[in-house]
Amino acid sequence: MKVLVARLNHETNTFSPVPTPLAAFGPDGPTFGEQAYKDNKGMRTAMSAFIDLAEKAGATLATPVSASANPSGPVDAGAYTTLTQCIVDAAPGCDAILLDLHGAMVAENSVDGEGDLLVRLRAAAPGVPIGVALDLHANVTPAMVGNADVIVGFKTYPHVDMYETGEHAGRLLFDLLAGRSKPALRWHPLPLMAHTLRSASFTGAMQRAIEAACAAEKSESLAVSIFAGFSLSDIEAPCMSVVVVDAQSPERAQATADRIAGRMWEEREAFVYRSEPLAQSVARAKRIADGATRPVLLLDHGDNCMSGGSCDTMDVLQEALAQGLHGIGVGPLCDPQAVAELIAAGEGAQVTVALGNKVSLEGIGLAKTPVQLTGTVRAISNGEYVITGPTYTGQRSSMGRTVLFDIGAARIVVTERTQEPWDIGVFECAGLDPRNERFLLLKSRMYCRPVFEPLSAALVECDSPGVTSSDYSLFPFGKVRRPVFPLDAI
Ligand SMILES: [Zn+2]
Repeated sequence: MKVLVARLNHETNTFSPVPTPLAAFGPDGPTFGEQAYKDNKGMRTAMSAFIDLAEKAGATLATPVSASANPSGPVDAGAYTTLTQCIVDAAPGCDAILLDLHGAMVAENSVDGEGDLLVRLRAAAPGVPIGVALDLHANVTPAMVGNADVIVGFKTYPHVDMYETGEHAGRLLFDLLAGRSKPALRWHPLPLMAHTLRSASFTGAMQRAIEAACAAEKSESLAVSIFAGFSLSDIEAPCMSVVVVDAQSPERAQATADRIAGRMWEEREAFVYRSEPLAQSVARAKRIADGATRPVLLLDHGDNCMSGGSCDTMDVLQEALAQGLHGIGVGPLCDPQAVAELIAAGEGAQVTVALGNKVSLEGIGLAKTPVQLTGTVRAISNGEYVITGPTYTGQRSSMGRTVLFDIGAARIVVTERTQEPWDIGVFECAGLDPRNERFLLLKSRMYCRPVFEPLSAALVECDSPGVTSSDYSLFPFGKVRRPVFPLDAI
């Protein structure tokens, strides 16, 4: 028995100005063949679970590619062709196909990155069963559902069950191969664009939906997945959906999907995040900080690089300075040009630089200009640290050359590369102890929370105008099928 196993992950924010070339798909670009196998074996990815299951079954493996990029703009056409063609080329002669995909990929030459890939795989290997593991933020499409035998999505956000999801999808596919079951796949798409900030699996409507999915898996279904979708994508349906795999019948699969989706639709308002005006959020943080003994977190979720943000907008810092906040630790802020200027000035130098707001946001009609700031170069470092927090523990990370720039009211970590503040190391490696600040301005949405919440007095979500804002009115949605909630009152 020969099994094709491959990994291709990208969450595309079609409004993001951040490019997605082939080189973005891994620390040194994507890996192929034997190296793709080595990069996943023993890890906690869905692909690593596929590998374990296939080896346990005594199968021969084909691992054409492992490619995973951080969220950004549409995938470069050449990159999409290269990454998908090697998977399609490996399909003929295989007995089963297991794919570790995201589900919200848009390329310059494919509006349905995963759906188009599955269509081509079906044509290249007719009748060969296909199992897919997807991210909880997948925008599931008819082409995906129509060209896979098994689909299972993550049940957690923040995502901590990648391996378990791969194991689940893989187990169902091997049962099918062995004739132990004949799974029926059905789905229920909802005209509902959820906000990422309302898709956490530990609270609210999303938690209730996932509990309903788990209950159905315990009683009757082989797999029930709740997809929040990824709404910062101008495609037909950047929307929520429920996908069910049933051992008994397509009718029962459909009934389960309809039942759970119906309940989600009833509480659709709970999947929508209503943004508070930025000035109000900052004023609220200021009040909380009076008398607090630990820093107050200002979460700039309108510019989160793990959702396609440029990591260089200045709105929250400008508002904080305008309202007289001081003792603000900021970072990481990506501005390679400013880094070069500050390093040229040297440690201890007093300089005026034009900081941030350099990546064009014209795609969503925003025009910003760099902010002139005068301060002292406190420290220069290589921006390297090892993650000690719970997300990607042990991973060596590099922000490129990094400068701690002190403007009096704020100390700003300026970097050459975008970086999610998922670890205290982003500050410590730059020479700043975040515990000593009154405020911490983090360009983050979810990943910073397990590390920074425990050392803070409070967390204040700040919605700034950027490509990962939660304010849908900023985005020129032209291709989304209407009506859709909450863009339309249905
Ligand atoms: Zn996700």
